[in-house]
Amino acid sequence: MPAELIDGKVIAAGVRAEVAGEVATLKASGIVPKLAVVLVGDDPASAVYVAAKGRACVEVGMAESTIRLPATTSQGELMQLLDSLNADSTVHGILVQSPFPSQIDCSAVIRRIDPAKDVDGFHPVNVGKLMAGERDGFVPCTPAGIQELLRASNVATRGLDCVIVGRSNIVGKPMAALMVQDGPVANCTVTVCHRYTRDLAVHTRRADILITAVGRPGLITADMVKPGAAVLDVGITRIPDPTRKSGTRLVGDVDFDAVREVAGLITPVPGGVGPMTIAMLLRNTVRAAQRLATA
Ligand code: NAD
Repeated sequence: MPAELIDGKVIAAGVRAEVAGEVATLKASGIVPKLAVVLVGDDPASAVYVAAKGRACVEVGMAESTIRLPATTSQGELMQLLDSLNADSTVHGILVQSPFPSQIDCSAVIRRIDPAKDVDGFHPVNVGKLMAGERDGFVPCTPAGIQELLRASNVATRGLDCVIVGRSNIVGKPMAALMVQDGPVANCTVTVCHRYTRDLAVHTRRADILITAVGRPGLITADMVKPGAAVLDVGITRIPDPTRKSGTRLVGDVDFDAVREVAGLITPVPGGVGPMTIAMLLRNTVRAAQRLATA
Protein backbone atom coordinates (compact mmCIF):
# COMPACT_ATOMS: atom_id res chain seq x y z
CA MET A 1 0.00 0.00 0.00
CA PRO A 2 1.50 3.41 -0.90
CA ALA A 3 2.43 5.74 1.94
CA GLU A 4 -0.12 8.17 3.28
CA LEU A 5 0.58 11.75 2.17
CA ILE A 6 1.30 14.39 4.81
CA ASP A 7 -0.54 17.40 3.39
CA GLY A 8 1.50 20.43 4.45
CA LYS A 9 -0.95 22.84 2.83
CA VAL A 10 -3.85 21.64 5.00
CA ILE A 11 -1.78 21.50 8.20
CA ALA A 12 -0.27 24.94 7.51
CA ALA A 13 -3.77 26.35 6.93
CA GLY A 14 -4.73 25.09 10.39
CA VAL A 15 -1.72 26.86 11.96
CA ARG A 16 -2.54 30.07 10.07
CA ALA A 17 -6.15 29.97 11.26
CA GLU A 18 -4.98 29.51 14.85
CA VAL A 19 -2.54 32.43 14.45
CA ALA A 20 -5.31 34.61 12.96
CA GLY A 21 -7.37 33.98 16.11
CA GLU A 22 -4.45 34.98 18.34
CA VAL A 23 -3.83 38.11 16.25
CA ALA A 24 -7.50 39.10 16.67
CA THR A 25 -7.20 38.70 20.46
CA LEU A 26 -4.06 40.86 20.55
CA LYS A 27 -5.69 43.50 18.36
CA ALA A 28 -8.66 43.65 20.72
CA SER A 29 -6.19 44.69 23.44
CA GLY A 30 -4.64 47.35 21.19
CA ILE A 31 -1.59 45.41 19.95
CA VAL A 32 -1.06 44.83 16.23
CA PRO A 33 1.64 42.16 15.76
CA LYS A 34 4.13 43.39 13.19
CA LEU A 35 6.90 41.65 11.26
CA ALA A 36 9.72 43.66 9.68
CA VAL A 37 11.45 41.90 6.80
CA VAL A 38 14.77 43.22 5.52
CA LEU A 39 15.93 42.35 2.02
CA VAL A 40 19.43 43.39 0.95
CA GLY A 41 20.12 43.24 -2.79
CA ASP A 42 18.02 41.94 -5.65
CA ASP A 43 18.25 38.15 -5.56
CA PRO A 44 15.06 37.14 -7.45
CA ALA A 45 14.31 34.04 -5.30
CA SER A 46 14.68 36.10 -2.10
CA ALA A 47 12.29 38.72 -3.50
CA VAL A 48 9.69 35.97 -4.09
CA TYR A 49 10.11 34.56 -0.53
CA VAL A 50 9.89 38.03 1.02
CA ALA A 51 6.72 38.86 -0.92
CA ALA A 52 5.15 35.56 0.19
CA LYS A 53 6.00 36.31 3.84
CA GLY A 54 4.48 39.79 3.58
CA ARG A 55 1.26 38.44 2.02
CA ALA A 56 0.99 35.75 4.70
CA CYS A 57 1.22 38.39 7.46
CA VAL A 58 -1.56 40.45 5.92
CA GLU A 59 -3.77 37.35 5.49
CA VAL A 60 -3.70 36.62 9.25
CA GLY A 61 -4.32 40.28 10.13
CA MET A 62 -0.74 41.21 11.11
CA ALA A 63 1.11 44.32 10.02
CA GLU A 64 4.26 43.92 7.98
CA SER A 65 6.90 46.16 6.60
CA THR A 66 9.40 45.09 3.96
CA ILE A 67 12.54 47.18 3.87
CA ARG A 68 14.45 46.79 0.60
CA LEU A 69 18.08 47.90 0.67
CA PRO A 70 20.44 48.12 -2.31
CA ALA A 71 23.07 45.39 -2.86
CA THR A 72 25.72 48.03 -2.08
CA THR A 73 24.44 48.52 1.51
CA SER A 74 27.31 48.56 4.00
CA GLN A 75 27.51 46.50 7.16
CA GLY A 76 27.22 49.71 9.20
CA GLU A 77 24.05 50.83 7.42
CA LEU A 78 22.41 47.44 7.96
CA MET A 79 23.40 47.44 11.65
CA GLN A 80 21.90 50.93 12.06
CA LEU A 81 18.64 49.76 10.53
CA LEU A 82 18.54 46.73 12.86
CA ASP A 83 19.17 48.97 15.88
CA SER A 84 16.22 51.14 14.91
CA LEU A 85 13.97 48.11 14.39
CA ASN A 86 15.09 46.67 17.75
CA ALA A 87 14.14 49.98 19.40
CA ASP A 88 10.79 50.31 17.59
CA SER A 89 8.08 49.08 19.99
CA THR A 90 5.57 48.62 17.13
CA VAL A 91 7.86 45.95 15.56
CA HIS A 92 7.62 42.49 17.20
CA GLY A 93 9.51 40.30 14.75
CA ILE A 94 12.60 41.02 12.62
CA LEU A 95 13.84 38.85 9.78
CA VAL A 96 16.77 39.51 7.47
CA GLN A 97 16.40 37.45 4.32
CA SER A 98 19.48 35.46 3.28
CA PRO A 99 21.61 35.19 1.21
CA PHE A 100 23.46 38.43 1.84
CA PRO A 101 25.82 40.32 -0.48
CA SER A 102 29.47 39.41 0.17
CA GLN A 103 30.35 42.60 2.11
CA ILE A 104 27.82 41.66 4.82
CA ASP A 105 28.90 39.52 7.79
CA CYS A 106 25.94 37.17 8.18
CA SER A 107 26.72 36.07 11.72
CA ALA A 108 27.17 39.68 12.93
CA VAL A 109 23.76 40.54 11.43
CA ILE A 110 22.06 37.65 13.24
CA ARG A 111 23.73 38.64 16.53
CA ARG A 112 22.55 42.26 16.17
CA ILE A 113 18.84 41.33 16.14
CA ASP A 114 17.23 41.54 19.58
CA PRO A 115 16.75 37.85 20.57
CA ALA A 116 13.20 38.74 21.72
CA LYS A 117 12.40 39.77 18.11
CA ASP A 118 14.45 37.03 16.38
CA VAL A 119 11.49 35.15 14.88
CA ASP A 120 13.81 33.13 12.62
CA GLY A 121 15.38 31.64 15.76
CA PHE A 122 18.94 32.02 14.48
CA HIS A 123 20.40 34.25 17.24
CA PRO A 124 22.85 32.33 19.47
CA VAL A 125 20.62 33.06 22.48
CA ASN A 126 17.70 31.28 20.81
CA VAL A 127 19.96 28.49 19.52
CA GLY A 128 21.19 27.98 23.10
CA LYS A 129 17.66 27.97 24.51
CA LEU A 130 16.65 25.31 22.00
CA MET A 131 19.66 23.15 22.93
CA ALA A 132 18.90 23.58 26.63
CA GLY A 133 15.24 22.66 26.11
CA GLU A 134 14.03 26.07 27.32
CA ARG A 135 10.67 26.92 25.81
CA ASP A 136 10.76 30.71 25.88
CA GLY A 137 13.04 31.09 22.86
CA PHE A 138 12.25 30.92 19.15
CA VAL A 139 12.68 27.70 17.19
CA PRO A 140 13.73 28.03 13.52
CA CYS A 141 10.63 27.87 11.33
CA THR A 142 11.36 24.86 9.08
CA PRO A 143 12.27 22.40 11.88
CA ALA A 144 9.36 23.70 13.98
CA GLY A 145 7.10 23.12 10.97
CA ILE A 146 8.33 19.55 10.56
CA GLN A 147 7.64 18.83 14.21
CA GLU A 148 4.14 20.24 13.67
CA LEU A 149 3.65 17.91 10.66
CA LEU A 150 4.61 14.93 12.85
CA ARG A 151 2.25 16.11 15.59
CA ALA A 152 -0.64 16.64 13.19
CA SER A 153 0.01 13.19 11.68
CA ASN A 154 -0.12 11.56 15.14
CA VAL A 155 3.35 10.03 14.86
CA ALA A 156 4.19 8.54 18.28
CA THR A 157 7.81 9.69 18.24
CA ARG A 158 8.99 8.52 21.68
CA GLY A 159 11.87 6.07 21.39
CA LEU A 160 11.94 6.14 17.59
CA ASP A 161 15.11 6.41 15.51
CA CYS A 162 15.12 9.80 13.75
CA VAL A 163 17.74 10.21 11.05
CA ILE A 164 18.37 13.71 9.66
CA VAL A 165 20.32 14.16 6.43
CA GLY A 166 21.90 17.64 6.26
CA ARG A 167 23.41 19.66 9.12
CA SER A 168 22.67 23.30 8.26
CA ASN A 169 22.07 25.84 11.01
CA ILE A 170 18.60 26.56 9.62
CA VAL A 171 17.31 22.97 9.29
CA GLY A 172 19.48 19.96 10.19
CA LYS A 173 21.05 21.08 13.48
CA PRO A 174 17.95 22.67 15.05
CA MET A 175 15.88 19.69 13.85
CA ALA A 176 18.22 17.35 15.74
CA ALA A 177 18.00 19.55 18.85
CA LEU A 178 14.19 19.44 18.70
CA MET A 179 13.80 15.71 18.20
CA VAL A 180 16.24 14.74 20.97
CA GLN A 181 14.45 16.82 23.65
CA ASP A 182 12.48 15.25 26.48
CA GLY A 183 9.06 16.53 25.45
CA PRO A 184 6.08 16.07 23.14
CA VAL A 185 6.76 15.01 19.52
CA ALA A 186 10.40 14.33 20.45
CA ASN A 187 12.28 11.82 22.66
CA CYS A 188 13.89 10.26 19.59
CA THR A 189 17.30 8.69 19.18
CA VAL A 190 18.78 11.13 16.68
CA THR A 191 21.45 10.64 14.02
CA VAL A 192 22.66 13.56 11.89
CA CYS A 193 24.22 12.71 8.51
CA HIS A 194 26.12 15.07 6.23
CA ARG A 195 28.32 15.17 3.15
CA TYR A 196 31.14 13.22 4.88
CA THR A 197 28.91 10.46 6.28
CA ARG A 198 30.57 7.22 5.15
CA ASP A 199 27.59 5.05 4.24
CA LEU A 200 24.41 7.11 4.18
CA ALA A 201 22.12 4.14 3.49
CA VAL A 202 23.25 2.28 6.63
CA HIS A 203 21.84 5.17 8.66
CA THR A 204 18.73 6.00 6.63
CA ARG A 205 17.59 2.32 6.63
CA ARG A 206 17.42 2.44 10.43
CA ALA A 207 15.18 5.52 10.41
CA ASP A 208 11.62 5.36 11.70
CA ILE A 209 11.56 9.08 10.91
CA LEU A 210 13.74 10.20 8.00
CA ILE A 211 14.18 13.94 7.47
CA THR A 212 16.24 15.06 4.51
CA ALA A 213 17.49 18.62 3.90
CA VAL A 214 20.22 18.50 1.28
CA GLY A 215 19.02 19.93 -2.06
CA ARG A 216 20.03 16.92 -4.17
CA PRO A 217 17.21 15.35 -6.24
CA GLY A 218 17.09 11.55 -6.07
CA LEU A 219 19.50 11.30 -3.10
CA ILE A 220 17.08 9.11 -1.14
CA THR A 221 16.06 6.01 -3.09
CA ALA A 222 13.53 3.34 -2.07
CA ASP A 223 16.21 0.85 -0.94
CA MET A 224 17.44 3.44 1.59
CA VAL A 225 14.09 3.64 3.40
CA LYS A 226 12.76 1.38 6.16
CA PRO A 227 9.31 -0.02 5.36
CA GLY A 228 6.63 2.04 7.11
CA ALA A 229 8.95 4.98 7.91
CA ALA A 230 7.78 8.60 8.03
CA VAL A 231 9.74 10.48 5.34
CA LEU A 232 9.89 14.28 5.47
CA ASP A 233 11.55 15.94 2.51
CA VAL A 234 12.84 19.49 3.04
CA GLY A 235 14.90 19.65 -0.17
CA ILE A 236 13.77 22.03 -2.91
CA THR A 237 15.47 21.97 -6.31
CA ARG A 238 14.14 23.34 -9.57
CA ILE A 239 14.78 20.92 -12.44
CA PRO A 240 13.99 21.13 -16.17
CA ASP A 241 10.66 19.58 -17.19
CA PRO A 242 9.67 20.05 -20.84
CA THR A 243 6.17 18.65 -20.11
CA ARG A 244 5.40 21.73 -17.99
CA LYS A 245 4.36 25.07 -19.41
CA SER A 246 7.06 26.77 -17.34
CA GLY A 247 9.64 24.23 -18.54
CA THR A 248 10.66 23.45 -14.93
CA ARG A 249 9.33 21.88 -11.75
CA LEU A 250 10.31 21.64 -8.08
CA VAL A 251 11.53 18.36 -6.60
CA GLY A 252 12.83 17.26 -3.20
CA ASP A 253 15.71 14.98 -2.20
CA VAL A 254 13.52 11.88 -2.19
CA ASP A 255 12.76 9.70 -5.21
CA PHE A 256 9.09 10.29 -4.42
CA ASP A 257 7.23 7.71 -6.55
CA ALA A 258 9.46 4.78 -5.54
CA VAL A 259 9.84 5.78 -1.87
CA ARG A 260 6.08 6.22 -1.56
CA GLU A 261 5.74 2.46 -2.15
CA VAL A 262 7.94 1.71 0.90
CA ALA A 263 7.27 4.49 3.42
CA GLY A 264 4.29 4.73 5.77
CA LEU A 265 3.98 8.51 5.62
CA ILE A 266 5.57 10.94 3.17
CA THR A 267 5.59 14.66 2.38
CA PRO A 268 5.28 15.73 -1.25
CA VAL A 269 7.43 18.48 -2.81
CA PRO A 270 5.92 21.00 -3.24
CA GLY A 271 3.09 21.03 -0.69
CA GLY A 272 4.77 19.23 2.22
CA VAL A 273 7.33 20.96 4.43
CA GLY A 274 7.41 24.20 2.39
CA PRO A 275 4.02 25.65 3.43
CA MET A 276 4.87 25.03 7.09
CA THR A 277 7.88 27.36 7.11
CA ILE A 278 5.85 30.54 6.63
CA ALA A 279 3.07 29.30 8.92
CA MET A 280 5.61 28.84 11.74
CA LEU A 281 7.11 32.27 11.03
CA LEU A 282 3.64 33.73 11.64
CA ARG A 283 3.32 31.69 14.83
CA ASN A 284 6.73 32.92 16.06
CA THR A 285 5.77 36.53 15.29
CA VAL A 286 2.51 36.32 17.22
CA ARG A 287 4.42 34.69 20.14
CA ALA A 288 6.91 37.59 20.05
CA ALA A 289 4.05 40.08 20.23
CA GLN A 290 2.40 38.16 23.09
CA ARG A 291 5.67 38.01 25.05
CA LEU A 292 6.61 41.65 24.44
CA ALA A 293 3.09 42.65 25.52
CA THR A 294 3.48 40.90 28.88
CA ALA A 295 7.18 41.75 29.42
P1 NAD B 1 22.59 23.61 2.97
O1 NAD B 1 22.25 23.86 1.53
O2 NAD B 1 23.22 24.70 3.76
O3 NAD B 1 23.53 22.35 3.12
C1 NAD B 1 23.26 21.09 2.58
C2 NAD B 1 23.55 20.02 3.59
O4 NAD B 1 23.52 18.76 2.93
C3 NAD B 1 24.94 20.12 4.23
O5 NAD B 1 24.79 20.01 5.63
C4 NAD B 1 25.73 18.95 3.66
O6 NAD B 1 26.67 18.40 4.58
C5 NAD B 1 24.63 17.96 3.32
N1 NAD B 1 24.97 17.11 2.19
C6 NAD B 1 25.41 17.47 0.95
N2 NAD B 1 25.61 16.38 0.18
C7 NAD B 1 25.27 15.32 0.95
C8 NAD B 1 25.28 13.92 0.70
N3 NAD B 1 25.65 13.41 -0.46
N4 NAD B 1 24.90 13.09 1.70
C9 NAD B 1 24.51 13.59 2.90
N5 NAD B 1 24.48 14.92 3.18
C10 NAD B 1 24.86 15.76 2.21
O7 NAD B 1 21.26 23.11 3.71
P2 NAD B 1 19.86 23.84 3.90
O8 NAD B 1 20.02 25.31 3.87
O9 NAD B 1 19.24 23.17 5.08
O10 NAD B 1 19.04 23.45 2.57
C11 NAD B 1 18.88 22.11 2.18
C12 NAD B 1 17.74 22.00 1.19
O11 NAD B 1 16.52 22.32 1.85
C13 NAD B 1 17.82 22.93 0.00
O12 NAD B 1 17.25 22.29 -1.11
C14 NAD B 1 16.92 24.09 0.41
O13 NAD B 1 16.37 24.78 -0.72
C15 NAD B 1 15.85 23.37 1.17
N6 NAD B 1 15.15 24.18 2.18
C16 NAD B 1 13.79 24.14 2.17
C17 NAD B 1 13.08 24.83 3.13
C18 NAD B 1 11.58 24.74 3.13
O14 NAD B 1 10.92 25.58 3.69
N7 NAD B 1 11.00 23.70 2.55
C19 NAD B 1 13.74 25.59 4.10
C20 NAD B 1 15.13 25.58 4.11
C21 NAD B 1 15.83 24.87 3.14
